[in-house]
Amino acid sequence: QAAHSGSDPVRGYAPSMGQIFLRRFQLVTQFRSALETGQVTVHYQPKIALPSRQVVGVEALVRWRHPEFGPLDPDEFVPAVEATGLVDALTSFVMEQGLQRVRSWLDRGLRMSTAVNLSVRNLADANFPDLVAEALRRYDVPPQLLTFELTESGVMSDPERALPVLRRLHAMGVTLAVDDFGTGYSSLAYLRQLPVDEVKIDKSFVLGMGTDLSDMAVVRAIVELGHSLGLTVVAEGVEEDSAREQLVSMGCDVAQGYLISRPLSEERFEAWLRARTIRARGLRDETVLTL
Ligand code: C2E
Ligand code: MG
Ligand code: MG
Ligand code: MG
Repeated sequence: QAAHSGSDPVRGYAPSMGQIFLRRFQLVTQFRSALETGQVTVHYQPKIALPSRQVVGVEALVRWRHPEFGPLDPDEFVPAVEATGLVDALTSFVMEQGLQRVRSWLDRGLRMSTAVNLSVRNLADANFPDLVAEALRRYDVPPQLLTFELTESGVMSDPERALPVLRRLHAMGVTLAVDDFGTGYSSLAYLRQLPVDEVKIDKSFVLGMGTDLSDMAVVRAIVELGHSLGLTVVAEGVEEDSAREQLVSMGCDVAQGYLISRPLSEERFEAWLRARTIRARGLRDETVLTL
């Protein structure tokens, strides 16, 4: 039954095409000023090594607190922004914030990476690697501590343009990861021809692992496939301790998910980190352990 809300005629009803279009149009036209006025922020979700539980890095995930629509998930506005030239500004913003974090962790003796999600348009931009190199120099961050996550659809929509960009990033020493692996057209042949270091198992398989034997089989197969290609295997969507244990027994390298932490604002992430930092051997050698 439709929810009641006196003053808002839209809520509780399926929005019309016109309303969807209008909202999308508003999001796109407002995005740049949202970046400039602090409505857009970056949240950080830790990734831990298995089985050691040491935090190896974070994924940087964009958030938009819209004055009218409230908090928006990236799934709502990133596709709209991606359809415009504004995605360059989005990627730069997230990368800059992420590199700033990596720099401040290095200054505390913590060696942790930041992963930034790329969109198709970044991969079609021949200047993108220069932009990245300049930012790495500016923050004095080793390229290995910056990871880019790309989806296969992002690469495969225009491989002729994407591959040279990926090769240059890889040659610079930046870490490259295939995101949401197992969905779409992932195949062994495809993975072999990409200059990537890491594969992220899509969360749908990891979430299903406890109840669905075929999901379990897919996860196991991706771990083995990834290792046979010399890749680091990351599982996303780790919500249960039983999933973490199964991933350990399969030899999966890295875990990310609500079990470890939800994505957190910069402030809350830093507090989370401080609470888990263990000073191992003096100030320059700290490690962060979780769970
Ligand atoms: P993704 O790159 O696959 O990111 C992982 C998503 O899974 C995040 O959703 C994260 O909050 C969610 N997640 C993490 N752990 C768990 C878990 O244990 N259980 C469940 N159910 N979900 C979990 P989020 O932040 O809503 O981002 C959605 C997608 O939006 C991302 O998927 C990514 O494709 C895109 N995105 C996010 N930030 C950016 C960005 O800065 N640039 C671009 N181009 N895309 C972005
Ligand atoms: Mg990602
Ligand atoms: Mg993913
Ligand atoms: Mg995704």
